[in-house]
Amino acid sequence: MDNPRVEVDLYKLKHNSECIVEMCKKNNINVMGVTKVFCAIPQIAEAMVAGGVTFLADSRIENIIGLSNIEIPKVLLRIPMHSEIEQLVTYADYSLNSELSTIEKISKESMKQNKKHKIILMVDLGDLREGVWYEDVGKTVGEIVNLGGIEIAGIGTNLTCYGGVIPSNKNLSVLSDIAVQLREKFKFPIPVVSGGNSSSIHLIEKGQMPSGINNLRIGEAIVLGRETAFGKRLTGLYDDVFTLYGETIEIKNKPSVPLGDVGMDAFGGTPKFVDKGMRNRAIIAIGRQDIKFDDLIPVDKNVQVLGASSDHLIIDITDSNKDYAVGKEIAFRMGYGSLLHSMTSRYVRKVIKNSES
Ligand SMILES: *Cc1c(COP(=O)(O)O)cnc(C)c1O
Repeated sequence: MDNPRVEVDLYKLKHNSECIVEMCKKNNINVMGVTKVFCAIPQIAEAMVAGGVTFLADSRIENIIGLSNIEIPKVLLRIPMHSEIEQLVTYADYSLNSELSTIEKISKESMKQNKKHKIILMVDLGDLREGVWYEDVGKTVGEIVNLGGIEIAGIGTNLTCYGGVIPSNKNLSVLSDIAVQLREKFKFPIPVVSGGNSSSIHLIEKGQMPSGINNLRIGEAIVLGRETAFGKRLTGLYDDVFTLYGETIEIKNKPSVPLGDVGMDAFGGTPKFVDKGMRNRAIIAIGRQDIKFDDLIPVDKNVQVLGASSDHLIIDITDSNKDYAVGKEIAFRMGYGSLLHSMTSRYVRKVIKNSES
């Protein structure tokens, strides 16, 4: 059984990685390739490495463990749980941190394993997700500077994730200034100043990246070929590295508005319908367990996604001149949410290709 499935083109992924790495290199920025959206499938991660990323980064320790055979520094992106610290020290070289108690536990475990684990201290510049509040960084560094088993390898920030704050020259300059102050005060190098994720790319494009920023952690821009502060396509990058295929299980002409009183749908929402008369509708065998229907984009521009339940995706094919039929496949581009869901869903097969060979 082939469907539903996601096809990944390694050639295009490598190309996108090369473009991002090249663009960053011109600004003296190195790249952590972020693998979480494709669940760190090693073959795909290898294509990122072939494209020139300097580190592999993921938010899940399971994914990092799965990358053990790839010889490149690994970074745990999500602030570690106390319960995963033994594995963290065993399998990852770096982690992003913000809690003293966690860093102390990492220090202990590292000394036990006779290692030096590298800490990137996260700084909250106002997005209100993880990080030490930007005014308190010096104090926190003072508390961890003498711990054994760890090295304060850098500072970093994360924007546009929770609060939607857009990276700017101004807020990232605060981060690079903090690095300068820490180097002066504590007399150590702070080699990594990590200025965020794919939402920071627009600053490079505009020539507004503060010169003190020397690292970015990039997932979406590589996999979907776009920056994420404004959702703009990046020139020269592929936006079709991943393609989702689903199979048609019903095609019928039906009214566009349900019969009877409309209550809640299966997910507690109240659906709204526009009366367009009778429409030709297809059901695709994929659902909310596998995708987020509102960010699926049919490759056939004349097809419209109407909605989805757990296992059924309903599309309107009335305006298409293609020959849809039960048993045939339909292809979709995916937004970040659908990509994350489909790669995570065990009901969706993953097919790895290479359009170069
Ligand atoms: C997911 C993640 C990234 C990568 O974000 P993209 O938008 O995919 O580039 C970077 N940093 C952290 C901490 C993350 O969790």
